[in-house]
Amino acid sequence: MEGGAEGDGNSKIKLVVVGGGVAGAFLAKEMQFVADVVLIDPKEYYEIPWAELRSMVEPSFTKRSLIKHMDYLTNARIITSSAVSITENQVLTADGDSVTFDYLVIATGHAYSTPRSRDSRLEQFEQDSQKIKSSKSVLIVGGGPTGVELAGEIAVDYPEKKVTIVHKGPRLLEFIGDKAAKKTLDWMKSKKVEVLLNQTVDLNSISEGDGVYMTSAGEKITADCHFVCVGKPPGSSWLQESVLKDCLNKNGQLIVDEYLRVRGRSNIFAVGDITDVPEIKQGFLANKHAMVVVKNMKMLMKGADESKLAKYKASSAMAILTLGRKEAVAQLPIGTMIGWLPGLLKSKDLFVGKTRKALGLNS
Ligand SMILES: Cc1cc2nc3c(=O)[nH]c(=O)nc-3n(C[C@H](O)[C@H](O)[C@H](O)COP(=O)(O)OP(=O)(O)OC[C@H]3O[C@@H](n4cnc5c(N)ncnc54)[C@H](O)[C@@H]3O)c2cc1C
Repeated sequence: MEGGAEGDGNSKIKLVVVGGGVAGAFLAKEMQFVADVVLIDPKEYYEIPWAELRSMVEPSFTKRSLIKHMDYLTNARIITSSAVSITENQVLTADGDSVTFDYLVIATGHAYSTPRSRDSRLEQFEQDSQKIKSSKSVLIVGGGPTGVELAGEIAVDYPEKKVTIVHKGPRLLEFIGDKAAKKTLDWMKSKKVEVLLNQTVDLNSISEGDGVYMTSAGEKITADCHFVCVGKPPGSSWLQESVLKDCLNKNGQLIVDEYLRVRGRSNIFAVGDITDVPEIKQGFLANKHAMVVVKNMKMLMKGADESKLAKYKASSAMAILTLGRKEAVAQLPIGTMIGWLPGLLKSKDLFVGKTRKALGLNS
């Protein structure tokens, strides 16, 4: 790999970023005038994930939360395809591209499948919103953050609809503390959302055909429609046969060092949910990873010594989950809170303006 000055015409360093989600989009934007940046993503747009559940009840919300990569990457090459493997110095894509890198950042998060075009994604939200609107009852499978936020949106916008959450664990929101989960359960009860814990619905057998769903405990739920809100595996299957296959842990996460470099690699970094950093997988942390890696790559590109690199320290659990348009439940270092106070922090705009600003766009 060549070192040398940043931004000096033909000798610019080639940086490939795989994954245009929370961490990859921000990182590519920050590096686009420092290196020759190529972003590889199967979608033509960046989606602000925390706007997703509001968009399901209010599709027009997506106008600001689905952002074409070309809108914030004005000085980078964008390849709309999935990466399928890597070699020592190239990323290979599903469409047959071989993209050479000096530095590589892997930011493929979790394995969500969303449409390639922004218009198709907008159409999906329209359909979901119609589905909710025309249903008297809704089943939500999964009581983690996504299921809870979706239930909150529906319960607040459509208080007359019957909402049921079926969750396989012993409490809602297992990724944060007991107290926050208990307060959330009470909130759900106050909105007449039925919560069935320690039960599952067989995902392979469900269809909306007759509107009847059986849980693993034998309970019968009738609902006009359902949404599956269960966790997804890390987006690393494309690395399983690659030169990085030994850098994946048993959960499919990439093992990184304190500088967020993939184990044993001096020029390959990983950021966001794909990493094995021992902390809850959150967008604001993915963003912090990206900031550290931007700093480190800039230093390395200037020829700095490894001892000068910034270290990333795993964060303790902190989260704010919306409960409809005004309220939220928060787990903060000072304790847990529920109601309009934490809601003031997030629930109206869902940090969409802030996220757009971070990408250099108007809010
Ligand atoms: C509904 C929802 C709500 C959330 N709310 C919050 C919240 O309020 N606050 C918070 O902090 N966090 C929240 N999160 C979590 C947060 O979104 C994730 O932690 C964050 O998105 C992780 O960022 P990332 O860049 O690692 O991955 P992602 O943002 O998931 O991005 C991964 C990118 O990689 C791309 N990709 C995948 N495979 C390939 C491949 N083979 N080749 C090329 N590209 C590929 C994908 O298309 C995607 O663009 C929420 C998550 C969801 C799903």
